[in-house]
Amino acid sequence: MQDVVIIGAGPAGLFAAHELATKSKLSVLVIDMGREIDKRTCPAAETGKCIKCQPCHIMCGVGGAGGMSSGTLNLRHDIGGDLSQLTGSVSKAHGLVKNVDAIFLEHGAPKEVYGSEAEATEELTRRAAAAGVRFIPILQRHIGSEYLPDIINSFKRKLEKQGVKFILNSKVERIGKGEIIVKGKRIRTKYVLAAPGRVGADWFAEQARDLGVKLTHGPIDVGVRVEVPAVVYEPVVRVNRDPKFHIRTKTFDDFVRTFCSNAAGFVMEERYDDCVGVNGQSLRAKKSQNTNFALLVHIELTQPVTDTTAYGRSIAYLATTIGGGRPLLQRVGDLRAGRRSTWQRIDRGHVMPTLRGVTPGDISMALPGRIVTDLLEALERLDKVAPGVASDSTLLYAPEVKYYAMKTEVDEKMETGVPNLFVAGDGAGLSRGIVTAAATGLLAARGILQKASGK
Ligand SMILES: Cc1cc2nc3c(=O)[nH]c(=O)nc-3n(C[C@H](O)[C@H](O)[C@H](O)COP(=O)(O)OP(=O)(O)OC[C@H]3O[C@@H](n4cnc5c(N)ncnc54)[C@H](O)[C@@H]3O)c2cc1C
Repeated sequence: MQDVVIIGAGPAGLFAAHELATKSKLSVLVIDMGREIDKRTCPAAETGKCIKCQPCHIMCGVGGAGGMSSGTLNLRHDIGGDLSQLTGSVSKAHGLVKNVDAIFLEHGAPKEVYGSEAEATEELTRRAAAAGVRFIPILQRHIGSEYLPDIINSFKRKLEKQGVKFILNSKVERIGKGEIIVKGKRIRTKYVLAAPGRVGADWFAEQARDLGVKLTHGPIDVGVRVEVPAVVYEPVVRVNRDPKFHIRTKTFDDFVRTFCSNAAGFVMEERYDDCVGVNGQSLRAKKSQNTNFALLVHIELTQPVTDTTAYGRSIAYLATTIGGGRPLLQRVGDLRAGRRSTWQRIDRGHVMPTLRGVTPGDISMALPGRIVTDLLEALERLDKVAPGVASDSTLLYAPEVKYYAMKTEVDEKMETGVPNLFVAGDGAGLSRGIVTAAATGLLAARGILQKASGK
């Protein structure tokens, strides 16, 4: 009989294990369907084309979804979720971010913090405000994909020394009351902490429904990946590697934001079961002349329909149909002029696409009119912050859709309505980033410790 079984070795699971192992003698077992960090490799990182490995090495394994990324730690409690809503206090939320950061530093994260240059940040904030754009100053620690595996390995070694056990390459098939089923085998446990991440969100939602845990639909973000010459965005990424701009659009008063910037990076295709999408990445060994970032409109359906995810899927499906199974690519100038892009027009422009497995076309045939209006208005405003962003040659790839897990109803200890079933991280809809996921792992572990001590 185990004391605690943690499902998922992503940031939420690992940080929960750390808290439990450091502050108690409870036996802790972490199970993940992926591999050790050193054994994770992604063909798409080299070729830009996803071949759908099972399980996906980008998303699964020790370190979780961010394990193979460049590992940018956003040191703010309200980026990637809002920890103050979970803790009920901004100061407690700050404290959690500090705890997470300290553990990353202990395992070798670089000391340097970006975004701490007050003068440059102030100037960018002022320039953005003058354009009606909110720049969110964030202190960021950038680990770098070359160092992240060492940090994750060091963290795992410490956990093992503290007595935490790991079972890898093993999918948890079912969560029962006081037990879990792995590869047909039953493991009895007092507490279950489910931290399955985005990749395990649908599976977890199924388990939760069977167990009677309450779930609510979350919002989605829909838009495009913007690609500009690196020099155009350089003054902005110099201040903040992944600058977050928030914009309220004029016509619809919708919320649009920038997200996931990749300086000198590449646009890549993402392939789901029945549709395609786009994302961006920076590679260690290869640099491009362009910078890409996501420009996304926030959508949350309220009534009578609440399943925003189904709405997002139908948009992605329509875009896939128009693109003949490939992402769509359009120049901003063509979108403004109401005509489709062609390879001749794109090749005449100043920005050469880093992803060529696309269909030049018309994004306004794929995304709802409201979203297209929002995106064009947001680009015009961003152009005042980084001149050139809304130039005719700027490239837009569609669709980029960010789905989030259904939100699990929890109390302040991260315990669900099912006694002794705790949750943490992206898979439970509680976070959307490394630091916030790790912080919810700490919260869930503290919840378990409190319960185990009879308080
Ligand atoms: C390419 C990429 C780059 C990113 N870059 C950044 C970044 O720079 N900064 C940032 O803040 N965020 C980034 N993110 C997001 C970040 O990685 C996630 O928000 C974070 O990892 C979530 O942590 P988690 O522990 O909740 O879940 P995850 O990290 O997703 O981990 C969940 C783990 O659970 C395992 N699992 C799921 N279901 C089961 C099951 N049934 N049985 C066994 N194991 C299971 C999975 O294999 C996985 O390892 C990135 C994400 C991606 C995909």
